[in-house]
Amino acid sequence: MAPISISSVVACHACPLRYYLEQEADHIEPPRYTFAKQISYHLGSPLDAAIIWEDVRIIAPTTPDECEKTVREWVAACAKTDRRSADEYDVRVESARLGIAGVADRLFEDEPVAAILRSTDAPEIGIYTADRLRAACLLFCLNETIAPGATSVAIEYVPSGISRTCIPQPRDRRNALRAIRLIEKIRAGHVPHKPHDAPCDGCYLADHCTGTSAKRLTDLL
Ligand code: SF4
Repeated sequence: MAPISISSVVACHACPLRYYLEQEADHIEPPRYTFAKQISYHLGSPLDAAIIWEDVRIIAPTTPDECEKTVREWVAACAKTDRRSADEYDVRVESARLGIAGVADRLFEDEPVAAILRSTDAPEIGIYTADRLRAACLLFCLNETIAPGATSVAIEYVPSGISRTCIPQPRDRRNALRAIRLIEKIRAGHVPHKPHDAPCDGCYLADHCTGTSAKRLTDLL
């Protein structure tokens, strides 16, 4: 069976029912991710907003002209602090022990050994719980493959131009392990219930998961 993606682990931790409903649905890359990704390839060298915007238009030709302003603002935010340039980009790593796999957006020789780029603004302080989970999963994979003793990952909040170092704690690894085990159960046929603390406010699936018979997103939309 294919390894579980790190993004699935994060999604299942946020809401197992949403993870269940979204299985097999096509995922379209959001424009914000495209902007952040293209900027990240230039971090560690002088940032030229015109070149990066041109990259965006090559990667996603239908991006509207209005988005150039956003890209330029994000580039300006990132230009305020020095960043390391990466040794490698988009390196796929896997944990055979846990059956998960993901991609290190940027890889470095020393700690933090990898960077996860985010297209969201940074929280006022610290790191979002979901991003701590991402970091824990990526380190599971890195520790088992190319960076056995590594303990930290950088979370790069591109829109804010902020990078924060994450050292996952037992609670983060526990959350990750619980979500992985639940995905294994769902893959085996288990249908999860709507959690009492599900993040339903603003969820685009709110109309589809209130009944007792949950259906896959591919059957609903
Ligand atoms: S509406 Fe709530 S329970 Fe339903 S999928 Fe969304 S977050 Fe989960």
